[in-house]
Formats: sequence, structure tokens, C-alpha cells
Amino acid sequence: MTESIEIRKIVPPVFEPVNLGERILCYRPMKHGMPHFGIEQIGSKVIAHNYGHGGSGWTLGPGSAKYVNALLIESPLAKELSDKTTPIAIIGAGLVGLFTAYDLVKRGYSNITIYAEKLDSLASHYAGGLLAPVSMDNDHEMQPIIDQIGIDAYRFYDGVARNKNDDFKKGARLVPSYFNSRKDSGLEPYVGKVMRPAKDVVLDFGNGTTRQMVAYDDGIFMNTALLMGELHDFINAHHINIVVGKINAFDELKEKFIFNCSGLGSIELANDSALVPVQGHLIMLKNQVPDNMNYMILVYFGMGKTEADQNVERSFYIFPKHLPDSAPQDIGVIGGTFIEGGSPDKPNNKEYDSIIEQANAFFGLK
Ligand SMILES: Cc1cc2nc3c(=O)[nH]c(=O)nc-3n(C[C@H](O)[C@H](O)[C@H](O)COP(=O)(O)OP(=O)(O)OC[C@H]3O[C@@H](n4cnc5c(N)ncnc54)[C@H](O)[C@@H]3O)c2cc1C
Repeated sequence: MTESIEIRKIVPPVFEPVNLGERILCYRPMKHGMPHFGIEQIGSKVIAHNYGHGGSGWTLGPGSAKYVNALLIESPLAKELSDKTTPIAIIGAGLVGLFTAYDLVKRGYSNITIYAEKLDSLASHYAGGLLAPVSMDNDHEMQPIIDQIGIDAYRFYDGVARNKNDDFKKGARLVPSYFNSRKDSGLEPYVGKVMRPAKDVVLDFGNGTTRQMVAYDDGIFMNTALLMGELHDFINAHHINIVVGKINAFDELKEKFIFNCSGLGSIELANDSALVPVQGHLIMLKNQVPDNMNYMILVYFGMGKTEADQNVERSFYIFPKHLPDSAPQDIGVIGGTFIEGGSPDKPNNKEYDSIIEQANAFFGLK
């Protein structure tokens, strides 16, 4: 007997002009090969690099902080760190820098200073919030390290979502995540370790349109702007210094031990030409029905060209992002462009229109 496929009803959001909020352009720090997780001695300084997470910074963040922090603490170059009052610098106050500080405090370190050019309106605040290891370019032999880091990060967010983490109250929740295929999700290495197997389902939008998808029912949505707030609250409560300003060279800092969490800043700071910006467009949604937004979807459409003649990988995604201090009905974010080498002088604004078209087409609305 063949099992019948499960049908799930989803009431589509609305994408009329009155339902569309802020348009956001931001940049993923993508490092070809894999993110830079490693220790290096430069002159008198010992640098622990933790940058280049591409479109998966939130997916990997807590795990990569734990991994790189352990690399430094266990390094023969860092014997002084057995004294937990040794001064430590972190460059960058995006999610990677803040999770680095969080993990160091949890390990008992007490003399930490964060140096950052900017504290607000970072890619870390704007990111959509899907937990899935996508938009990276990892060498095949490095993938098991990335998988383990992602699985560690999943455990962290799962603890937050299930109210088992005293430091984070609201920033993550369990939400079904839908993809066209298991391969597209990047989540298969997590299955059997921290996630249950995906199911084949049909989404029925109640308007004659249905889509066959795979569902990970223990998917995780990370409410990124809210988590940034919770990370800052933790840092303030633990009296970690934050010094605002650009660092041009590691030897400007007085500390010997430096975590480099500068994201795209590492193109200059670490002279890293394998690190590239990947432009992404997002549109916040308004005036939706919050109870109808309990899911995440990511589907890919393939490559195209932007109006600036740049290569773009187009996708459509929708997540239940909700900004702190906004009305409950102003919920949801749609996106999905990946433009490698994108820059603010070529904003490719027509991509916003194509995201709205794709959103309507996906849900069978127009
Ligand atoms: C459109 C879009 C959607 C995304 N969606 C998701 C998602 O759904 N899930 C997911 O997992 N990830 C997502 N991401 C990826 C995620 O946002 C990034 O991987 C992550 O924000 C990178 O964090 P970061 O801390 O390395 O960098 P950033 O957030 O960019 O922070 C870098 C920090 O370093 C500082 N800095 C840089 N250079 C210097 C310097 N020389 N001196 C001092 N300070 C410096 C900056 O001022 C800043 O404080 C998305 C990204 C984009 C663009």
C-alpha cells in the first residue's frame, strides 16, 4: 500500500504595496574554500580568525565561536590564556564577534574588549533568519568541520527555542522549514544527530495552487535583530568594553590575543582576496496575519543577470521575521538574491520587483 502524501494548508501572505515595508540591501561575507577559522601569529600578536560565513553566519555563529575559541585557548601560542584575566580583543560586533564574546564569558574570561567600526544596521541585524547552511563555497574535505559547527549551533538555538537557555529568552523558535529538495536545504547532515528526517508534503495555498515540497518540522527560525539585542544585553550585563572605531592593523591594539570577527572588513584587515561580498535584497512585510506566518520557505530559481549585468542567483524565501518594537502584524521578510561581487554603487534595485513577482507567483496570487 502506498502512503498518501500529507497536504498542509497555508494561507498566503499579501504582497500589495500597503503590505510591503522597508527595502534592505546588505552583503554576505563569502570566503571561497570555507570560512577562515584558524590561528596565526603576526609579529607579537596571536590572531584567531573567524570570518567569511557567507549566507550562513547565523546558522553557524554560536558553533563557530565555540570552535575558534577552543582553537585559540588550546593553541601552544596561547599559554597565557590559562589565566582567565588575560586581556582579549575582539574585532567586530556582528553576530560572530558577539557570540565570540558570549562564549568567552561562559568559559570564565573576564577581560574582553570589543573593537568595532559599526554597532548597528549590520548584515547580522538584517539577515533573514533561516537555519540552513546555504550560500557558502566550502572545499569538499572541509565540509565535515562545517557540519559539526552547524550541528553545535543547532543545539544552541534549540535550547533557546525550548526555553532551556537562561541568557536568551526569545530569539529562536522551532518552525517548519520547506525546500524543493533535501539537497537544497543543506540540512541532511543534521538529520539523525539533531533533526528528524524531512517529510514529503504538499502545500495547499487554498487558491488552486499547490507545491510539492520537503518539510523539516524541527527547522529553526532565528529572529536576528532580536538576537542581536539579546547578545548586547548579555555583553552589557557582563561589563564587556566596546570601543567604536575602525582598526586598520592588528598591531594598533594593545592586546596580544585578538579574535578577528570583522566579516567583510577582513578583505582589508587580513588582506584576504578570497573573501567577497555577496549582495542580497530583502523586503520587510507589514499588515499580515501573524498566526498565518508560522513557516519558512526557500526555493531556488537559477542564474540570471541584473540590470548592472552582474550574475545573480535568484531564489525566493519568506521567514517570520519580526523587529523588536514593531506592531505584531508587521511580520515577515521576503528575499532572495545572491550577487557575488555586488557593491553599493550597483544596488540592482529592480531585483526588489522581481522578488515581489516571484512571491506572488510562488503562492499563486497573480
Ligand atoms: C540578505 C541576507 C540574508 C541573510 N540571511 C541569513 C539567514 O537567513 N541565515 C543565516 O544563517 N545567515 C544569513 N545571512 C548571513 C549573515 O547575515 C552573515 O553571515 C553574518 O551577518 C556575518 O556576520 P559577521 O559578524 O561576520 O559580520 P557583520 O555583521 O558584517 O559584522 C562585522 C563587524 O565587524 C566590524 N568591522 C569590520 N571591519 C572592521 C575594522 N577594520 N575595524 C573595526 N571593526 C570592523 C563591523 O563594523 C561590524 O561590527 C544573510 C545575509 C544577507 C546579506
